[in-house]
Amino acid sequence: MRKYTSEISPNDDGADVTLFGWIHEIRDLGGLIFVILRDREGFAQVTLPKKVTKKEVFVTAKKLKRESVVRIDGIVRAEPKAPNGFEIIPKYIEILNEALTPLPLEVTEKVPAELDTRLDHRFMDLRRPKIQAIFRIRHQVLQSIRDFLSSNGFVEVNTPKIVSTATEGGTELFPLSYFDKEAFLNQSPQLYKQVLMAAGFERVFEIGPIFRAEEHDTTRHLNEVISIDIEMSFTDHKGVMEILEKLICKVYKDVNEKCQKYLEWLGLALEVPNAPFDRITYNEALEIARSKGERIEWGEDLSTSALRLIGSELDDFYFIVDWPTDAKPFYAMPNPENPKICNSFDLMHSWIELASGAQRIHKYEVLISSLKSKGLSPDSFGFYLEAFRYGMPPHSGWGLGVERLLMAMLNLKNIREASLFPRDRHRLIP
Ligand code: ATP
Ligand code: MG
Repeated sequence: MRKYTSEISPNDDGADVTLFGWIHEIRDLGGLIFVILRDREGFAQVTLPKKVTKKEVFVTAKKLKRESVVRIDGIVRAEPKAPNGFEIIPKYIEILNEALTPLPLEVTEKVPAELDTRLDHRFMDLRRPKIQAIFRIRHQVLQSIRDFLSSNGFVEVNTPKIVSTATEGGTELFPLSYFDKEAFLNQSPQLYKQVLMAAGFERVFEIGPIFRAEEHDTTRHLNEVISIDIEMSFTDHKGVMEILEKLICKVYKDVNEKCQKYLEWLGLALEVPNAPFDRITYNEALEIARSKGERIEWGEDLSTSALRLIGSELDDFYFIVDWPTDAKPFYAMPNPENPKICNSFDLMHSWIELASGAQRIHKYEVLISSLKSKGLSPDSFGFYLEAFRYGMPPHSGWGLGVERLLMAMLNLKNIREASLFPRDRHRLIP
């Protein structure tokens, strides 16, 4: 019967199994060959003593090259000295596809390669269990997010990625030609998810790519990201902050329960956070940074160095709330008592921003003057603005980057580790 290596245990002693996988390692001791077979769930030792192995099987084993794909039929034998307590005594080995030598990248952990080399040969890099583990966990993260939001009444939507207007203006976009028109890759589903509030969905979410043409060269920026966006009617920023912190806790809990094996591959013990997270105001954050020697003016975005200082004073997860209105996009709702600040928040993990959100302006006139005050022309926001004139409910929402969330959860030092085929300033292939 076909099995994954993880489905076999010493209790299967004597059972017939068929395994498919890659040749991870070969130890040829002359009269005895050990082969480590790797599949997506783990490893199995295949043992071939010359004396008792069928001749043609032994001859095939002699020819095996690392990373070739094979089928192995054999019998399970409990063997305390083998990894996981069992070995496979093969009756049949078929080389399904032979790997060339030398390999572009080592799959065994012995020789650490540079990140660039690894990404250049990503398929090979992903064969390493601790790298694959990141994406097995990413799958669970997305699954949990869908479950959580769906069970809270959010409707999953997909909005266009080819658009004609800049979402927030000013930000750099990737232009493309759309027949005889100029178009762009969308930097955020912001405008569309707000329009869907006017459409009466009340709660929507989208998991999709966002494109940022900024020439960042940091360990936490990519030019193509998967963003989880929600928008929710009849609630303010506080309402969507609660959804966000509960979502984070749920995702951590699920990963901890369902991905233990992959966490082990990564050598990680996950600490599941508890909601509510701390909330500090922008002013308080500024004070912390200033008291530690950072020079920073009120109204500015918080620099990386300031965020490092602030993060060192707080729990892993915390919100920074009440941002200066000028530091946030035009659609953020100014605080009615003090319009210099707005009903917006960032969710932080240590010094890294995971999500940004806000209550949105829902009154047409207020929106027009906000656009103008940011130097944007209402003319280029026609379809969006129309939605505000015929019954737009009050609403709020946020956007959370999946790669940033994985960085935080799995303690990855570079965001590129969290993307299968990252797009950055220099990287367009593979
Ligand atoms: P930052 O200030 O960290 O550059 P931002 O404030 O420009 O991020 P937002 O426009 O608020 O980003 O986007 C919402 C979320 O999407 C961010 O909190 C982050 O998780 C993710 N995100 C946005 N841009 C990027 C990027 N270039 N690389 C990785 N993630 C991103
Ligand atoms: Mg932000």
